[in-house]
Amino acid sequence: MMERLTNQKKAILDFLAGAKGHPDAYEIFATIKQKLPQISLATVYRNLDIMAQKGLIKEMRFRPDRANYDGVAEKHHHFVCNICSNIFNVPDQVLLDFAKITEDGTIDLVEEFQVLFRGRCINCARKIEIA
Ligand SMILES: [Zn+2]
Ligand SMILES: [Zn+2]
Repeated sequence: MMERLTNQKKAILDFLAGAKGHPDAYEIFATIKQKLPQISLATVYRNLDIMAQKGLIKEMRFRPDRANYDGVAEKHHHFVCNICSNIFNVPDQVLLDFAKITEDGTIDLVEEFQVLFRGRCINCARKIEIA
């Protein structure tokens, strides 16, 4: 039997499904609050934790101070800018050659992999050029 989602969880899921980026709990709270004015930040945190544990949403901890949540359902990887801390999506296709690690005969099957790129994004590179 499918577990019924509370209005709170459904509102969070709906928001994440429409979000292009990687909002943090506070950004999610700010939007959800417009729909459900009684909701507290603590409740949003609790719902996010539960939904991440159940695999309904993807929680990412790339920064020490907060978690970000992914609204993009397709398989992808991430690039984190070391200067502005923005998180960018990297399409899975750029890593297709990594799947060839089975070719040396030591690994039988790769079922999934996650790669995190870190570096400098184009916006930060432009700011450095101007300065
Ligand atoms: Zn940047
Ligand atoms: Zn992402």
